[in-house]
Amino acid sequence: IVMATVKGDVHDIGKNIVGVVLQCNNYEVIDLGVMVPAEKILQAAIDHNADIIGLSGLITPSLDEMVHVAKEMQRRGMNLPLLIGGATTSKAHTAVKIEPQYEQPVIYVTDASRAVGVAGRLLAPNLKTAYVAEIREEYVKVRERNAKRRPKAADLDYTQARKRRFRTDWSTQTPVEPKFLGLKTFDNYDLEELIERIDWTPFFMSWQLAGKYPKILNDEVVGEAARNLFADAQVMLRKLVDEKRVQARGVIGLWPANSVDDDVVEVYADESRSEVIERLHHIRQQTTKGRDGICYSLADFIAPKESGKADWIGGFAVTAGHGVDELTKAYEAAGDDYNAILVQALTDRLAEAFAERIHERVRKEFWGYVPEETLDNDALIAEKYQGIRPAPGYPACPDHTEKGTLFKLLNATENTGLALTESYAMWPAAAVAGWYFAHPQSKYFSTGKITRDQVEAIAERKQMPLEEMERWLSPVLSYDPS
Ligand code: SAH
Repeated sequence: IVMATVKGDVHDIGKNIVGVVLQCNNYEVIDLGVMVPAEKILQAAIDHNADIIGLSGLITPSLDEMVHVAKEMQRRGMNLPLLIGGATTSKAHTAVKIEPQYEQPVIYVTDASRAVGVAGRLLAPNLKTAYVAEIREEYVKVRERNAKRRPKAADLDYTQARKRRFRTDWSTQTPVEPKFLGLKTFDNYDLEELIERIDWTPFFMSWQLAGKYPKILNDEVVGEAARNLFADAQVMLRKLVDEKRVQARGVIGLWPANSVDDDVVEVYADESRSEVIERLHHIRQQTTKGRDGICYSLADFIAPKESGKADWIGGFAVTAGHGVDELTKAYEAAGDDYNAILVQALTDRLAEAFAERIHERVRKEFWGYVPEETLDNDALIAEKYQGIRPAPGYPACPDHTEKGTLFKLLNATENTGLALTESYAMWPAAAVAGWYFAHPQSKYFSTGKITRDQVEAIAERKQMPLEEMERWLSPVLSYDPS
């Protein structure tokens, strides 16, 4: 079985776990690693005379890359089954976008525990035919259901949606001026300080153990596995921190900003607000079905220029991933896949904890809009504070290309050692980046699907060809651009 994380993507914990599970069941796994172009995957499958190809990806642009791989397999007349997995993939996407591209079996694999069963059926001549027929039938139904469901959101056009924007009474509300403006970098941030901010529930999820921490430790079914894993995690964490095997680096920025034209945030060079250094392009919801009938855009949380109020926006990029690659490679070379995956899972947690801790310091210290905040650790991890840190590529701001603007503003590559791939994944993978909004009513939401008029407006503002914009926004389009 040849496995790879597709071109442009760097996340491979899920794939690595699947690989280990398959190997434990006597499959030979050729793992090509991350950021693997289609040609290399297909050539490896031919060279190794593989029986199956498995693709993985985490970020939304990888969905399109997987479609590309399937098309390539068809074009080359390949005849081996294709398995699809990873966080943003789904049965619906596999059935609607990928499976129709390739005549051979294309199967979505929910999680590692399923992979063995799927591979087993595909490789057993007496089971394969019936299994493949069953999947095909199921995917036909998925496509039919999907076609009927049509735009779940987007029952308003863009003009109507803008009229329903979230409004603030700026005559009674004044944004807090940050304590400093510009950039602040953190080199070798103290990892010890981050440990207590680790959110352990997603850690167990990454190992496919379902349940909330700390309750999961006493769960009837997975409790023992969770306790063992947690104990191993503590040992590894001490090693990472005490022996300084990984380094945390980060940068934050705070800038004068105002919104214009509803959905654009202008970032200014200084308080004179005369020179725009970057424009941030936000996406607006287009549905009447939201809780309050409001169509949100993140830009709504920044004071409009015409309000006459000065406002500010922040940005951050943090990583705990420097050193991870060397360490995981060393474990892998020693045949210790378990600890290799443990290092990846833990540094992902440290990066999130780093984002949480720095956000706290931004609220109390650097921006200082809630200097007296007193929240306990649980409340912090539950994000029960004023303000948000939405991450480009996530539901409130699904346009990954905005990460390019964020990185430019932060000079993030130079200041943190983080690089962006062609799909805007961050490398090293244990990294988090996003914007800071301080508005008391700022909240996370999902843009939902959007219509062509909004996509055209964004493409024009960003001066990007419409087709390119549609590619980047394909997960949120309410229409088929082809
Ligand atoms: N404690 C968690 C934090 C990560 S998930 C952990 O350790 O894994 C929550 C983060 O995801 C938020 O802080 C934000 O950066 C991002 N996020 C969540 N929902 C979002 C949305 N709707 N739009 C944009 N970003 C979102």
